[in-house]
Amino acid sequence: MMEPIILFVDDEPAILRAIKRIFHRSNLQICTASNSVDALRILEQTPVSVMVSDYSMPEQNGAELLAQARTIRPETVRIILSGNNDQTATIEAINQGKVFKYLTKPFDKDTLIREVDAAVVEWQNRIFIEPEKKLLKQSALVQLINSKQIQNSDIEAIAVVLAIRDLDLVKEQLGNNETHQLLVSIAPSHQTLAEGVSLALLDEGHYSGFIELAANCPDPLMSVHSMLDKFVVNPIIDGRAHNIAFDVGYAVVDAKEVDGATLIRNAQLAMQTASDGQDSCAIAFDHQLISNRGRLLALQSGLRTALANDEFVLFYQPKIDNTNLSLHGAEALIRWNSETLGQVSPFEFIPLTERNGMIDEIGEWVINEAVRQWKSWYPDGDSGPAVSVNVSAVQLKNKEFIPSLERTLARHDLPPSLLELELTESLMVEDMNKVIEMLQAVKSLGVKLSIDDFGTGYSSLSYLSRLPVDTIKIDRSFIMPMLESNEKLAMVRNMIRLGHDLGMQLVAEGVEEEDQLLVLKELGCDITQGYYFSPPVAGDEFIGKTSEIVDSQAPTTHSLSVKSA
Ligand code: C2E
Ligand code: MG
Ligand code: MG
Repeated sequence: MMEPIILFVDDEPAILRAIKRIFHRSNLQICTASNSVDALRILEQTPVSVMVSDYSMPEQNGAELLAQARTIRPETVRIILSGNNDQTATIEAINQGKVFKYLTKPFDKDTLIREVDAAVVEWQNRIFIEPEKKLLKQSALVQLINSKQIQNSDIEAIAVVLAIRDLDLVKEQLGNNETHQLLVSIAPSHQTLAEGVSLALLDEGHYSGFIELAANCPDPLMSVHSMLDKFVVNPIIDGRAHNIAFDVGYAVVDAKEVDGATLIRNAQLAMQTASDGQDSCAIAFDHQLISNRGRLLALQSGLRTALANDEFVLFYQPKIDNTNLSLHGAEALIRWNSETLGQVSPFEFIPLTERNGMIDEIGEWVINEAVRQWKSWYPDGDSGPAVSVNVSAVQLKNKEFIPSLERTLARHDLPPSLLELELTESLMVEDMNKVIEMLQAVKSLGVKLSIDDFGTGYSSLSYLSRLPVDTIKIDRSFIMPMLESNEKLAMVRNMIRLGHDLGMQLVAEGVEEEDQLLVLKELGCDITQGYYFSPPVAGDEFIGKTSEIVDSQAPTTHSLSVKSA
């Protein structure tokens, strides 16, 4: 594929012999055919760069043959070499785009060599983005893969797609042309790649490769990594060294009918999945990815119209005060009833909205709806139960967050102390000083703060003590097994002690059993949330549900007990 191959077709053996003599000393690979059947067979098996055909031949004229050749190998540069008598027909062939050039017989040696050289340059421009490096165009790579499979259908190989992480940012910074230059410049040249490896630059700015797995290295990932190692990963952009990371997807050639275009598309899909992750990585294609991707696209498109179509609602889960069994407050939890997808869990769609920026708008809706609802349930006073709303770290970073929060409270005239924001520990990986400043601004409005899913994240003690939070919610994953062993119980006991030492209130999340509740009370945990009291319920059930809980709770005593581990 990479080295030029020239195919001459002529029904006169003497002419073919003369041509072979002429090109005997050149470094071009020459093949010949004396009829169109042989010519087409060669073309199918060999990535011919330039095809030079006689016009008048017994079975088929040269223009017809070259027209057929175009469908087999569009990148091949096609030339007619013919006597003057065929001029009208050949001119027509050229005008129809079937033929690149028309050369006349008799030919002189130098002209023929010059014309073939020019055709080779044309061929290089057709298949390479960059001829020096032999960096292919997408279409040429597809052709290459297809021709490999015809030659050897049990070839062990992979198609791979590599995408630079944050390519969009690079494009924003450099513009399209400069980015293209950069992409060409950091790509390895063909000579430095291992044998059996070809590389293309795709239109989107991704690289695509075809790797024939060497017998001594059948591991696709190792081959991918040795290819990646040849890239320049610290290019200087605008005078600064940048660190380039790749997301990689690859597809193994497994069935004979898989064509080059499909293989690359599959590898691309795997790459997109890789780029959805937090860190750059390599992912192999499998058919499950197609349905996953389908689901993802359906979710994204559904989310775009969800707010406008009123598809979100809030459910409320009561939080019960352990000391007097009164209602401490409720957590508002979003529910999406998608018209097209049915009920979708927040675990599935919230992370998507955080990535595509929709969380700001949806989060604003959540706060407004929770505040509006709460005011209608608890219109008087500022010391009653409070409503908690989950807020993602992405929302907090938005400069509009605090002004919008303030406006919402004012709009519904809810005392700020009746609103609590639940933040997850993922916040702690951000710039700590900025986070604290932000939280202090929220606190100064009078709104309460709580750390959600405590114990699952990275927060260290020293971080925790610097945060202006009122409450810690111990994650369900600690509550669930707390009665299984002394160690697990000790974890919960320590969290409660730690929280109290820092002057915070403790909420236990996901309490499902009475035994858990009794032990938590013994440990001094302040508040309980979980299925034991109630699952999250729709707004119109909430008031009924809470009075039911509060009325049914009679004080119980119980001694601290641990099930045998
Ligand atoms: P979370 O804030 O930790 O909410 C608690 C989750 O545990 C809820 O799941 C709740 O239904 C569930 N749960 C409560 N008690 C029990 C129990 O006793 N047993 C079990 N097995 N589960 C219990 P849900 O409603 O599916 O919400 C999942 C997560 O989605 C939430 O976790 C929160 O991180 C996020 N989320 C929900 N609503 C919002 C929202 O409005 N904004 C943001 N940013 N995130 C939200
Ligand atoms: Mg929560
Ligand atoms: Mg939680």
